[in-house]
Amino acid sequence: MDKQVQNKKIDLRSDTMSEPSADMLPDLASLDYGVDVFGENEQVNLLQNYAADLFGKPAALLFPTGVMANLAALIVHTPKGQEAIVGKSSHIFAHEGGNASVLGGIPLKPVDDEGGIFDLNELAEAISDGAFFSTKTGLICLENTHNDKAGIAHKPDALQPIYQLAQQNNIPVHLDGARLLNACAKYDIAANSFANCADSIMICLNKGVGAPMGALLIGETDFIEQAKGIRKLLGGSLNQPSVMAHMALKGLQNYQAKLSVDNANAAKLVELLSPYAQFDVKPTEQGTNIVYIFLRNPAKPATEYIPEFEKYGVHLLANQIAYRAVFHSGVSAEDVEQIAQAFVEIFAVEHQGQQFVSTKEQG
Ligand SMILES: *Cc1c(COP(=O)(O)O)cnc(C)c1O
Repeated sequence: MDKQVQNKKIDLRSDTMSEPSADMLPDLASLDYGVDVFGENEQVNLLQNYAADLFGKPAALLFPTGVMANLAALIVHTPKGQEAIVGKSSHIFAHEGGNASVLGGIPLKPVDDEGGIFDLNELAEAISDGAFFSTKTGLICLENTHNDKAGIAHKPDALQPIYQLAQQNNIPVHLDGARLLNACAKYDIAANSFANCADSIMICLNKGVGAPMGALLIGETDFIEQAKGIRKLLGGSLNQPSVMAHMALKGLQNYQAKLSVDNANAAKLVELLSPYAQFDVKPTEQGTNIVYIFLRNPAKPATEYIPEFEKYGVHLLANQIAYRAVFHSGVSAEDVEQIAQAFVEIFAVEHQGQQFVSTKEQG
């Protein structure tokens, strides 16, 4: 491949880079512009009802962002003076500015989530009944798929024992399911099979689903009514989000086909790079649309190779030792070959036994 003629930008920094497909684009004149604050926006109502049905819960509520929807869930669920248990590397704990504590007055108690999920015994240990000088646990938060753990997906049967433990202790569970639909696509299971894993679920519309913005909070009618009040408090009530809701609904209706492709492209990159001893590629088994490529014994920090990748049109996030590649609708199967080739050529690795040959070169 001639590095100089690579014009297409392959942006793997995040699946928020996904662009809407043509079928999602609205005919502006035909949309309903009822005001959602009065519950009168047809697109919003269709979207919320569709999502509630999809996830097997009675109600859903549209938010501008996933961060805001998570925050609203934490505020509604957690009684004043109680704590929320969160994963040590969860998005809520590590990437939301401590908003639950800063804005919600909720202390967060981090518990190890190394495998993308809590160990049941460690969680049981962490739950506090509030006796004597301890702070009572008022909420447990899960994350599936797990963003920081390379998109690891757990099936409902892995989450259910946690939910049962929480119920035994009368503690509600919130599931940050920003990419839960990637897990559904991976295991070919219905979204409502997660209904009995948590009291509330947040899903992002702005990632693999392909909408330009938005998130949904899904749960019991009562809970959603209260969340509506908190959404107003946070400045998240929108008057006429017709375009946003229309695009999100179209994206949701077609999530399986789209996210299966993203998951498959990610798996293909894992397959192409795994044979090289120079790369430690993760995850292999439970992966969805996120791939981490760790460098074994790099000469320089991984970040310093970023400009090299950009010559191939490949845009990645990196830290000292690893790259993160997130797959979305803007990345094709052909692009995967190109990404793999960039890795191989940049690090000029010796293939264990075979030469690296892209399928393009094979014809
Ligand atoms: C992206 C993400 C969020 C936040 O969603 P925004 O819409 O970007 O605010 C929350 N949790 C996880 C796990 C995410 O990946």
